[in-house]
Amino acid sequence: MGDDEPTAGPLPYTEVTDEAYAARAAAGFTVRELGFAVLLSGQCPRCDHSMSNTLVDDLYRRVAPATAPDLGYRTVLCECDADHPARPDGLRGCGAYWTLRLEVEA
Ligand SMILES: [Zn+2]
Ligand SMILES: [Zn+2]
Repeated sequence: MGDDEPTAGPLPYTEVTDEAYAARAAAGFTVRELGFAVLLSGQCPRCDHSMSNTLVDDLYRRVAPATAPDLGYRTVLCECDADHPARPDGLRGCGAYWTLRLEVEA
C-alpha cells in the first residue's frame, strides 16, 4: 500500500486513508489534554508535514461507558500548512485521514 505514491514532490490532495496511517500516527503523535479539548501534534503519516489538530470534544468524555467500550476513537484529518495540488479551496492538509485511539483515563 502506498507504493504508487512518489516519495518526492508535492502529493496531490486526495481523501484517502490507510491502516498504516493510524499505526504511524499513533507512534508519532503527541496527545495533550487541555481539559475541554485534546491537542494532537505530529507529522502527517501520508505527507510527513507537521500538523496539529485540536479536538474540541464532548463525545470524547465517557458519556456511555456501558455500551461503548471503544470510546476514544476519533477520526483525524491532516491539517498541515503545506500546499497540495488539486486541493479544494478552503481546505487544509493533504486529504489523509485516520482513526486515532485516545487513551481515556478515568
Ligand atoms: Zn502536507
Ligand atoms: Zn498530510
